[in-house]
Amino acid sequence: MPQAATLEAGSRYDLRVGSSPEAPDEADFRDDSGVFGYAHSYESSSRYDGPGLRVVLFLSGCLLRCTYCHNPDTWHLKDGTRVSVQQVLDRLQSFVPALRSLEGGLTISGGEPMVQLEFTRRILAGAKEMGLHTAIQTSGYLGDRVDDRFLSVLDMVMLDIKSSDPATYLKVTERELAPTLRFAERLAKIGKRAWVRFTLVPGHTDDPANVDGVARFVAPMKNVEWVEVQPFHQMGAFKWKAMNLEYKHTDTLPPSPELVARVIGQFRAAGCNAR
Ligand code: SF4
Repeated sequence: MPQAATLEAGSRYDLRVGSSPEAPDEADFRDDSGVFGYAHSYESSSRYDGPGLRVVLFLSGCLLRCTYCHNPDTWHLKDGTRVSVQQVLDRLQSFVPALRSLEGGLTISGGEPMVQLEFTRRILAGAKEMGLHTAIQTSGYLGDRVDDRFLSVLDMVMLDIKSSDPATYLKVTERELAPTLRFAERLAKIGKRAWVRFTLVPGHTDDPANVDGVARFVAPMKNVEWVEVQPFHQMGAFKWKAMNLEYKHTDTLPPSPELVARVIGQFRAAGCNAR
C-alpha cells in the first residue's frame, strides 16, 4: 500500500480524479481499521454546511448516482487522495480557535461519509476531543451501517431526502428510497439533531405531490430543525463532461424564485421550519 499523500485544501468544485488507482471498489468496501481513507478535498470556511463556520471534509466513495450530482469525482475511492486520520486531525487542529469562536465545527461530506464508516468515525471522535461540534452530510442510504458508537461522536446529521416517491428516488439516484427513510426515522426516535435537505430539480423532483410527501414525512420529526431547499445548479456539469459521463441535465434550468418559494411554502404549510 502506498504512503499517505497530502490532502490539499480546495473546493467541492475542483475536479480531482485518479489520485489512488490502487484503491478498492467502494461498492463492497469495509474499512475495518479506518486508520487511512480516501478524500477529495476540504474547505476551511463554509457557512452552508451546518451551524456556524464549518471546515468541510469531502470524502470519496458514494453508492448513489444522482443524475444532478455536482461531485461525480467523489463517487470512487480511486479518485480520492489516500490520507491518514492523523493527517486530517493535524490539519483540523489549526482551525479549532476560529471554529470555536464562530460556533462552528467539522462537517464530513462527500461523496458519502458512510462508505468509509470507521475512517469517518475516527475523525469525528478526534474532532470531539478538540471540543468541536460534529456533523455529517449524508443520503442516509447506508444508515443501517451506523451503530451507537458512531452516533455518540456525531452532534448532528444533514440528511438529503431527495424524493418521497420510491420511483422518483430510483430514477434520480439509481437506488432505493427505503434505507434513507429508515435512517431518518431512527434519528427522530433518538432525538438526534438534524437538518433535512431537499434538492429541487425542475421537472424531476418538483412535483407538488412529491414535495408534499417529503414535507408530511418530516413535519412530525421534532429533531429536524430545518428543511433546506437546495436549488439545482449547473456548477458541476463540467465534471460530467471531463469524466466522459452522460449528463442528463444539460437543458435543465435552475428553479425560478417562484418555484423555490412554492416549495418552501409547501414545507411550511406542512409544519416544517423551511428555508
Ligand atoms: S449522494 Fe451526493 S455525492 Fe452521491 S451521487 Fe448523490 S449528490 Fe452525488
